[in-house]
Amino acid sequence: MRLATAEISFSALAHNFNKVKQFAPNSQIMAVLKANAYGHGLVRIAQRLDQADAFAVARIDEALALRAGGLVKPIVLLEGFFEPQDLPILLANNFQTIIHDRSQLEALLASELDGQLITWLKVDTGMHRLGVTPEEFDDVYQDLLACQNVHPAIRLMTHFACADDLNNSKTQQQLGLFKQLVQGKAQQHCLANSAAIVGWPDSHGEWVRPGLMVYGVSPMLNCVGADHQLQPVMRLKTRVISIRQIKKGDAIGYGSTWQSPRDTTIGVIAIGYGDGYPRHAPTGTPIIVNGQQVPLVGRVSMDMITVDLGPVTEAKIGDEAILWGPELPVEIVAQHAGTIPYELLCNITPRVDYLYRE
Ligand SMILES: *Cc1c(COP(=O)(O)O)cnc(C)c1O
Repeated sequence: MRLATAEISFSALAHNFNKVKQFAPNSQIMAVLKANAYGHGLVRIAQRLDQADAFAVARIDEALALRAGGLVKPIVLLEGFFEPQDLPILLANNFQTIIHDRSQLEALLASELDGQLITWLKVDTGMHRLGVTPEEFDDVYQDLLACQNVHPAIRLMTHFACADDLNNSKTQQQLGLFKQLVQGKAQQHCLANSAAIVGWPDSHGEWVRPGLMVYGVSPMLNCVGADHQLQPVMRLKTRVISIRQIKKGDAIGYGSTWQSPRDTTIGVIAIGYGDGYPRHAPTGTPIIVNGQQVPLVGRVSMDMITVDLGPVTEAKIGDEAILWGPELPVEIVAQHAGTIPYELLCNITPRVDYLYRE
């Protein structure tokens, strides 16, 4: 019997990629595949994104894994390179680098490479995480242009802090500052993550970089994928492994944190934080057993969770339980667990089986 399984739908993936194209019809698409394609399987997902214009990852190892998997598209390193020794690896593998800090410029200036790297100069317009400052942007740009190791088509980018919130004026401020800074530089631009692709069409430059929405999950506050006609790519499911009757007042699980207010039936389901199900999911988090939504009760343990099936139930051992997927948006589960869907998807552990389906 298959227990914790992440079922991955390639048709949903293709549907979502087409949605990105509809949202940003005039942009090239760099599909973001960091963190094992948000827990969906790096190479398997990349193989199905043949319409992407490029891939983006956070670490060189992720980019090398794509090459080892036979993928030949350009790959953008979203945090750039970390040491000067990385540069020949980038050049040899057709990896493009973000330049977000002067130290990277200095490493480029001090190197002797056998060719020219494609670079994306990132300016910090208000996120205050990565990116050169607006004040140093022009200087760094000119130095990059003059650098022998750098291809003269330097792409320009920034990243939004609050694009998921349509009521937050910060995105317009960041966009305005970016437009002002890039004026007079005839280069390609890339600003939009999923939230900006969906919510801020003015920000779609020559390139967009969607992650979450490709996997069918909403990037916007208090929304689910279906609100933007996205289809969840992952269904996380497992099986019921035990059913038991309990009495009113009986306590369930570690710490005896939940006591039943009535005589009821408890289902034990084979998934836990050892599979990546969030331990912080509290009593009341929805789970689907046999097509019925039931509440999680008591603490999540490493290998199991418990649900209240109610006094009268037809559920039996072996029944399917769905933790999230098309029937139960991961956004909702994340809300219950006090986190974001990104974290739940990335946290799937190697113990979970993957089942790829058309
Ligand atoms: C992860 C990441 C993205 C993708 O963000 P989503 O919200 O998943 O679309 C885009 N740009 C950068 C710089 C990132 O780190």
